[in-house]
Amino acid sequence: MVPLAEIIDKKKINFIQQKVRGINFQNQTILLSDKSELQYDYLVIGLGSSPETFNIKGLKENAFFLTNIDSANIIKNHINYMFSLYKETLKEEYLTIVIGGAGFTGIELAGELIHRKNVLSKELDIEKDKIKIINIEALNTILPGFNAELITYAKNHLEKLGVEFILNTPIEEYTEDKVMLKNNKIIKTKTLIWTGGVRGNNLLEASNIKSKRGRVEVDNYLRSLEYKNVYILGDSSIVYNEENKPYPPTAQLAVEQGKYLGNSLIATLRKKSDNIKEFKYKPKGTIASLGKSYAIGILKEKKLKGKKAHILKKITYLYWLKLLGGIKLIIRRFF
Ligand code: NAD
Repeated sequence: MVPLAEIIDKKKINFIQQKVRGINFQNQTILLSDKSELQYDYLVIGLGSSPETFNIKGLKENAFFLTNIDSANIIKNHINYMFSLYKETLKEEYLTIVIGGAGFTGIELAGELIHRKNVLSKELDIEKDKIKIINIEALNTILPGFNAELITYAKNHLEKLGVEFILNTPIEEYTEDKVMLKNNKIIKTKTLIWTGGVRGNNLLEASNIKSKRGRVEVDNYLRSLEYKNVYILGDSSIVYNEENKPYPPTAQLAVEQGKYLGNSLIATLRKKSDNIKEFKYKPKGTIASLGKSYAIGILKEKKLKGKKAHILKKITYLYWLKLLGGIKLIIRRFF
């Protein structure tokens, strides 16, 4: 984690650390958690995403969601606890971890959990084969929409390491200890980690602005179609590509939007709007880790897999660390 104080120069920015409770676009005001109101001339919304549960019964109440470092720690502690309960009870549902959804988050998580399985089996002296990592996907493929050759590679690689995939089978319900599937199959587990997709922040849906699953369509300058002094970026925004399909909500897109908006807002405030060009996004590629030492990816249309892709993933990790906290963060992370 990067302390905000290291990123934000408080001499230049009046930084307020509070929750936004509401936005009134007509009055141009923001309601904060201490019930105070802020008036704005221009508003930039980058509220991020929330998990999309599709109203699946029991998910909100019982499943785990991988949304930030705190939730990752909660999941880690829960798994440790469940494994220790197995030692007392010998009930196998304590050793079964189900991942709901095989998009990039689900697949990267499966790769990490395989590594964790090996560590915990040694530490707690549990037979490896008793620990189950099951990834369930509603569609008939993992990583829907990604390159077919790389999908096959990822699936074979993870299966070889011990991940079980159940495809073409939506999850319909989760109680505290059972995942119910559409084909009436039931999997007993105390751990369902939901990675079935994301939607925009609920606050946008609750505000008076047109949104689709909490995300707002923007024009070519990242402005709201309804309020031209409101800019929206990151997972809160919908940006269409040349084929009129929305770009997936990735960190890469959000960063490019941030850089663009920084410059275009300065130009707007300096009354040099004529200099502002449209936002154009060229994705550099996608890279997904498959646990320790392996990955898959596409970089400028070149397919990469295995250790080479893993090295590239590590390099992109360093790039992100540098972007977030400079060299200082890289040093803190590794030394
Ligand atoms: P996603 O929407 O990409 O994948 C969710 C998956 O869950 C889909 O395959 C969907 O079919 C499946 N699903 C939905 N309902 C289901 C059900 N009832 N039962 C079983 N499966 C179900 O979501 P994500 O993986 O969280 O990714 C979110 C965004 O973040 C995407 O744009 C993704 O590209 C991006 N991302 C990128 C990386 C990377 O580049 N390495 C890593 C993580 C996420």
